[in-house]
Order: sequence, then structure tokens, then C-alpha cells
Amino acid sequence: MRNDTPPRIAVVGGGLAGLTLALALHRAGLECRVYEQAPRLGEVGAGLQLSPSATRLLHRLGLEPALRSAAVLPEAMEFRRWADGSVISRGLLGKHGEERYGAPYYTMHRADLHRALVEALPTGMVRLDARCTAAEEGPDGVVLRFADGSHAEAHAVVGADGIHSVLRQALVDDRPRFSGQSVYRGLVDGRRIPEVVAEPRVQLWLGPGRHVVCYPVSGGRLVNFVATVPTSGSGSESWSRRGRVADVAAAYEGWCTEVTSIIGAADQVSLWALHDRDPIARWSTGRITLLGDSAHPMLPFMGQGANQAIEDAVALAVCLREAGAGELPAALQRYESLRRPRTTLVQERSRGNSAALHLPDGEAQRERDAAMGTPTPERQDWLHGYDVEAALTGHQPT
Ligand SMILES: Cc1cc2nc3c(=O)[nH]c(=O)nc-3n(C[C@H](O)[C@H](O)[C@H](O)COP(=O)(O)OP(=O)(O)OC[C@H]3O[C@@H](n4cnc5c(N)ncnc54)[C@H](O)[C@@H]3O)c2cc1C
Repeated sequence: MRNDTPPRIAVVGGGLAGLTLALALHRAGLECRVYEQAPRLGEVGAGLQLSPSATRLLHRLGLEPALRSAAVLPEAMEFRRWADGSVISRGLLGKHGEERYGAPYYTMHRADLHRALVEALPTGMVRLDARCTAAEEGPDGVVLRFADGSHAEAHAVVGADGIHSVLRQALVDDRPRFSGQSVYRGLVDGRRIPEVVAEPRVQLWLGPGRHVVCYPVSGGRLVNFVATVPTSGSGSESWSRRGRVADVAAAYEGWCTEVTSIIGAADQVSLWALHDRDPIARWSTGRITLLGDSAHPMLPFMGQGANQAIEDAVALAVCLREAGAGELPAALQRYESLRRPRTTLVQERSRGNSAALHLPDGEAQRERDAAMGTPTPERQDWLHGYDVEAALTGHQPT
């Protein structure tokens, strides 16, 4: 391979991270191919909260019309008490948040975002049924090996292959860590719980050992909920499976009527064992790097995994756009140096929220509620006001 040609990039994994990277590379005029193990593209039937730090990037990639039509602009984020539903804190989003952070805070169905990304990509950019089994790095490029015996060559490879990443194994010998918790996820017809959907909001009910998150998706027609439960055992034998509505209802018996009515309105739920991994000291070799959950799998207790992946994707595309094929190792290092500190912080805080959100009633819980009770918009500036492209050019205010 010649060193003065524009780089050709192979992306392993066609989830939200891999497809956002593919779109950002395509818009940057770089050659890219995505290798996805599944026979067809798609996302799980669940919701997603998108921070302004990610939506500003998706809008710049041309997805604003698709997002505005499919997503919901919640007016506020409310934390509530588990027993009586009383409000602990209410932070404004909606137009107020959009003005403050320079882009909207959306809630949306994951499949709507995934579809918008697929539709924005040129046909043929994603190869399906391509399960990567190994990556062999040489001085000028990387050879990817696939389960069907085929191979592909690229100047650089990006592992966007999720928490079970094959590419990560080349960098570090670690395993996913079970959090001791699982979540039930469900989608409910909004007409069945009118009192909950009266105002579009993100609502969280906090109680001893567990919490529930709920918000509208699909233009408000559906309501997504996520309900945590402490779980014994490693959880690794089944990470995702059908759950029983009766079990989640039993786990939340005695909670306020909003929570019990949301759960009661569900026809079906899925059950996910929650895992993350420790932050790692490096994501890249010379020509291989990681992105999204393969780089920094985190617990969902800040709703940030996909947001951070989208920030990663745009940062990496900018670094690669500015590099020739011979400068790829330096470009990957630049990407990693920018992204690792921020994603490590979010990973650690997400893990920390695991205890903070689940305090038993008592002194510590009252102190937490008092501290949360006066939300100031500035508190979230570091998270939502962040612009990764400005950070790369040194224009992001600290
Ligand atoms: C309950 C819950 C709620 C969440 N809520 C939010 C939220 O509100 N906001 C938010 O930002 N994040 C949220 N997250 C996190 C978010 O879902 C993830 O961070 C995000 O989906 C990760 O995307 P990814 O593309 O990196 O990985 P994945 O979605 O895991 O995609 C990886 C892709 O790679 C493919 N693949 C894997 N191995 C191979 C291989 N060997 N060869 C080829 N292809 C391969 C897979 O088939 C898959 O398509 C939540 C997570 C959970 C569990």
C-alpha cells in the first residue's frame, strides 16, 4: 500500500458507533467499509436519550430533518421519590436547553436513529454477514479475517464491535464486569398512561436499591421505560432475554402509582444484565483503534454510551481527514488523547451513579436529594455543552 494515498478505513461493527463513523468518514470524503456480523442491520426495540453534545454532531452530518421528525424534545428532566412520586428536582430542557447548550436534547427510538444513519449512507458501504475473527497489523496496513474464510485489507481498522469486542482483545486482556444489576426495558403505548405523558419529560423515580427511567419516543406515541433490579450471580449466562412483566411488577410493588401504572401498561419486557469494563490505558496500536462500547463500555446510569460513541466517531473522522495514509498512527493517537480522558470520566461517573441513585431512605438519601434539589443549568455544561470539533481545534471553552 502507498503512503501518500488517502486512507481507506475498515470499521468492524454496524451499531450506532460504527454507522456514525461511516457517515462522518463519508462526509469527510474518505473511503470506508463497514463489516457487520448480523445478516441484517437493525437496533433493539428500546429508547435512547441523546445529549446536545451528540445531536449537534448528528445535525452537522445532515440528520437534523430525520431527527426532528422522529425524536421528542422533552421539556424537562425530573427526579422523583419512589414512594409518593414527589419531585426531588426538575431541570429544564426543551427550548431552554437548546438555547443553553446550542443543540437539542432528544429522546428517541433507537431504531429511528439507526435507520436515519443507514439511509444517509451510500448503498454498498456495509457488508453484512461479516463476523470478524482477527486483525493482522503490518507496517502499511491491516488485514481483517472473517468467520467465512474471507479477508479484507485497509490502511486502518476501527473496532466498533461493542462490549464483547474482538478488536479490543488485541490491546488488553480484560473481561466485562457484571454490575450486580439488571434492567427491564419496555415500550408502552402512550395512550395507556395519559397522566405520565401529559408533558413530554424524562422522569426518574429513585428508591432503595433500584430506579425507573421513563420518557416518550417515536414522536410521543410510545413511552420507553427502564427499571433496574439488583441481581445475584454473574449474569453472564444470558445478557439479554425476554423478561416477565409480572416479575418487574413484583419488584416495584409499593412504588407510586405512576411507576406501577407504567409497568402495568407493558405487554412485554426484555431483561438485560448490566456489564461494563474498567477504563484502559490505551485504545490504539499503530493502525487499529477502538470506538464506542468496544473502547469504553459503561453502565447506562448517565445515558451516555451512545452519546460518547457519536462524539468519538466525529473526532476520529476529523483526525483521519487531516492525515494521509502514512500519518495514520499519529492521527489515531491524536483521537485517543482527546477522547480517553472524557470517556473515562463518564465511565467512572456512570459507575458511581449506581450507588447514588439507589440509596436507601435515610440521612444519605436526604442529603443527596437536597443537593439535587436546586439544579443549575451550568452543572451540565461540561457534558451537554461540549463540542468535540471545537475541542479538536482548541476552541472548546473549559
Ligand atoms: C438499558 C440501557 C440504556 C441505555 N440508554 C442510553 C441512552 O439513553 N443514551 C446513550 O447515549 N446510551 C445509552 N445506552 C448505551 C448505548 O446503548 C450503547 O453505548 C451503544 O448502543 C453502543 O453502541 P456501539 O455501536 O458501540 O455498540 P453495539 O450497539 O454493541 O454495536 C456493535 C455492533 O458490532 C457488531 N459486531 C460485534 N462483534 C462483531 C464482529 N466480531 N464482527 C462484525 N461485527 C461485530 C454487532 O453485531 C453490533 O451491530 C444504554 C444502554 C443500556 C444497556
